[in-house]
Amino acid sequence: MRVKLKSGRDQRKFIARIEELSGENVFACYQCGRCSAGCPMASEMDLLPNQIIRLVQMGLDEDVLRSKTLFLCASCFTCESRCPKGIDMARVMEAVRHILDPKGKDAFGPGEISPELAQELPQQVLVSIFRKFSK
Ligand code: SF4
Ligand code: SF4
Repeated sequence: MRVKLKSGRDQRKFIARIEELSGENVFACYQCGRCSAGCPMASEMDLLPNQIIRLVQMGLDEDVLRSKTLFLCASCFTCESRCPKGIDMARVMEAVRHILDPKGKDAFGPGEISPELAQELPQQVLVSIFRKFSK
Protein backbone atom coordinates (compact mmCIF):
# COMPACT_ATOMS: atom_id res chain seq x y z
CA MET A 1 0.00 0.00 0.00
CA ARG A 2 1.51 3.34 -1.08
CA VAL A 3 0.98 6.15 1.44
CA LYS A 4 1.19 9.78 0.30
CA LEU A 5 1.09 12.47 2.98
CA LYS A 6 -1.53 15.21 2.63
CA SER A 7 -1.98 18.50 4.42
CA GLY A 8 -3.89 18.29 7.69
CA ARG A 9 -6.63 20.53 6.30
CA ASP A 10 -7.20 18.33 3.25
CA GLN A 11 -7.22 15.24 5.42
CA ARG A 12 -9.82 16.70 7.78
CA LYS A 13 -11.97 17.83 4.86
CA PHE A 14 -12.00 14.34 3.33
CA ILE A 15 -12.78 12.66 6.66
CA ALA A 16 -15.58 15.14 7.44
CA ARG A 17 -17.15 14.58 4.00
CA ILE A 18 -17.09 10.79 4.41
CA GLU A 19 -18.67 11.08 7.86
CA GLU A 20 -21.29 13.52 6.57
CA LEU A 21 -22.28 11.31 3.62
CA SER A 22 -22.16 7.99 5.47
CA GLY A 23 -23.48 9.07 8.85
CA GLU A 24 -20.76 6.87 10.39
CA ASN A 25 -18.09 7.79 12.95
CA VAL A 26 -15.02 6.35 11.24
CA PHE A 27 -12.88 6.91 14.33
CA ALA A 28 -14.94 4.37 16.24
CA CYS A 29 -13.07 1.67 14.29
CA TYR A 30 -10.21 0.11 16.26
CA GLN A 31 -9.01 -2.22 13.50
CA CYS A 32 -10.15 -5.54 14.91
CA GLY A 33 -10.47 -6.87 11.34
CA ARG A 34 -13.77 -8.70 11.85
CA CYS A 35 -15.34 -6.88 8.89
CA SER A 36 -12.64 -8.12 6.53
CA ALA A 37 -12.69 -11.65 7.98
CA GLY A 38 -16.37 -12.02 7.12
CA CYS A 39 -16.48 -10.13 3.83
CA PRO A 40 -17.51 -12.45 0.96
CA MET A 41 -15.67 -10.25 -1.56
CA ALA A 42 -12.41 -9.90 0.40
CA SER A 43 -10.41 -12.29 -1.80
CA GLU A 44 -11.02 -10.04 -4.83
CA MET A 45 -10.29 -6.73 -3.09
CA ASP A 46 -7.01 -4.82 -3.35
CA LEU A 47 -7.72 -3.18 0.02
CA LEU A 48 -9.68 -4.98 2.71
CA PRO A 49 -12.63 -3.20 4.35
CA ASN A 50 -10.65 -2.52 7.55
CA GLN A 51 -7.82 -1.06 5.44
CA ILE A 52 -10.27 1.22 3.66
CA ILE A 53 -11.57 2.62 6.93
CA ARG A 54 -8.02 3.01 8.30
CA LEU A 55 -7.02 5.04 5.24
CA VAL A 56 -10.18 7.14 5.67
CA GLN A 57 -9.20 7.76 9.33
CA MET A 58 -5.81 8.96 8.07
CA GLY A 59 -7.43 11.19 5.45
CA LEU A 60 -5.55 9.47 2.63
CA ASP A 61 -8.17 10.13 -0.02
CA GLU A 62 -6.05 9.28 -3.09
CA ASP A 63 -5.26 5.81 -1.78
CA VAL A 64 -8.92 5.16 -0.99
CA LEU A 65 -10.34 6.66 -4.18
CA ARG A 66 -8.25 4.52 -6.53
CA SER A 67 -9.08 1.23 -4.80
CA LYS A 68 -11.12 -1.28 -6.79
CA THR A 69 -12.62 -2.43 -3.47
CA LEU A 70 -15.16 0.40 -3.72
CA PHE A 71 -16.81 -1.30 -6.68
CA LEU A 72 -16.51 -4.84 -5.36
CA CYS A 73 -18.40 -4.19 -2.15
CA ALA A 74 -21.76 -5.91 -2.60
CA SER A 75 -23.48 -3.92 0.19
CA CYS A 76 -24.31 -7.22 1.89
CA PHE A 77 -23.97 -5.74 5.41
CA THR A 78 -22.10 -8.79 6.75
CA CYS A 79 -19.40 -6.45 8.02
CA GLU A 80 -21.86 -4.29 9.90
CA SER A 81 -23.39 -7.32 11.59
CA ARG A 82 -19.92 -8.45 12.72
CA CYS A 83 -18.50 -5.07 13.73
CA PRO A 84 -18.27 -4.65 17.52
CA LYS A 85 -18.69 -0.90 17.01
CA GLY A 86 -21.68 -1.22 14.67
CA ILE A 87 -19.93 0.58 11.82
CA ASP A 88 -21.79 0.29 8.52
CA MET A 89 -18.93 -0.20 6.06
CA ALA A 90 -21.33 -0.38 3.13
CA ARG A 91 -22.31 3.21 3.85
CA VAL A 92 -18.65 4.23 4.11
CA MET A 93 -17.97 2.58 0.73
CA GLU A 94 -21.00 4.31 -0.73
CA ALA A 95 -19.78 7.67 0.60
CA VAL A 96 -16.38 7.19 -1.05
CA ARG A 97 -18.00 6.20 -4.35
CA HIS A 98 -20.12 9.30 -4.08
CA ILE A 99 -17.02 11.49 -3.81
CA LEU A 100 -15.64 9.78 -6.92
CA ASP A 101 -18.67 10.94 -8.91
CA PRO A 102 -18.01 14.58 -9.88
CA LYS A 103 -21.75 15.10 -10.24
CA GLY A 104 -22.44 13.68 -6.79
CA LYS A 105 -23.90 16.04 -4.21
CA ASP A 106 -25.59 14.15 -1.38
CA ALA A 107 -26.90 10.67 -0.73
CA PHE A 108 -30.20 9.94 -2.43
CA GLY A 109 -32.92 7.31 -2.36
CA PRO A 110 -34.51 5.09 -5.05
CA GLY A 111 -37.38 7.53 -5.65
CA GLU A 112 -34.92 10.20 -6.74
CA ILE A 113 -33.31 8.16 -9.52
CA SER A 114 -34.43 9.45 -12.90
CA PRO A 115 -34.49 7.05 -15.89
CA GLU A 116 -31.57 9.02 -17.38
CA LEU A 117 -29.52 8.70 -14.17
CA ALA A 118 -30.33 4.98 -13.91
CA GLN A 119 -28.70 4.51 -17.33
CA GLU A 120 -25.53 6.28 -16.22
CA LEU A 121 -24.94 4.97 -12.68
CA PRO A 122 -22.63 1.99 -12.12
CA GLN A 123 -24.61 -1.15 -11.23
CA GLN A 124 -23.05 -1.29 -7.77
CA VAL A 125 -24.35 2.16 -6.92
CA LEU A 126 -27.91 1.10 -7.75
CA VAL A 127 -27.60 -2.13 -5.73
CA SER A 128 -26.26 -0.19 -2.77
CA ILE A 129 -29.06 2.37 -2.90
CA PHE A 130 -31.75 -0.31 -2.84
CA ARG A 131 -30.12 -2.59 -0.26
CA LYS A 132 -29.92 0.09 2.41
CA PHE A 133 -33.71 0.37 2.21
CA SER A 134 -34.24 -3.38 2.59
CA LYS A 135 -32.19 -3.98 5.76
S1 SF4 B 1 -15.18 -4.74 12.35
FE1 SF4 B 1 -15.60 -2.57 12.83
S2 SF4 B 1 -14.08 -2.01 14.41
FE2 SF4 B 1 -13.40 -3.93 13.44
S3 SF4 B 1 -11.98 -3.28 11.78
FE3 SF4 B 1 -14.03 -3.50 10.88
S4 SF4 B 1 -14.96 -1.46 10.99
FE4 SF4 B 1 -13.22 -1.49 12.40
S1 SF4 C 1 -20.94 -4.80 2.80
FE1 SF4 C 1 -19.19 -4.78 1.37
S2 SF4 C 1 -17.37 -4.66 2.69
FE2 SF4 C 1 -19.10 -5.29 3.98
S3 SF4 C 1 -18.99 -7.55 4.03
FE3 SF4 C 1 -20.42 -6.96 2.37
S4 SF4 C 1 -19.15 -6.86 0.51
FE4 SF4 C 1 -17.75 -6.83 2.29
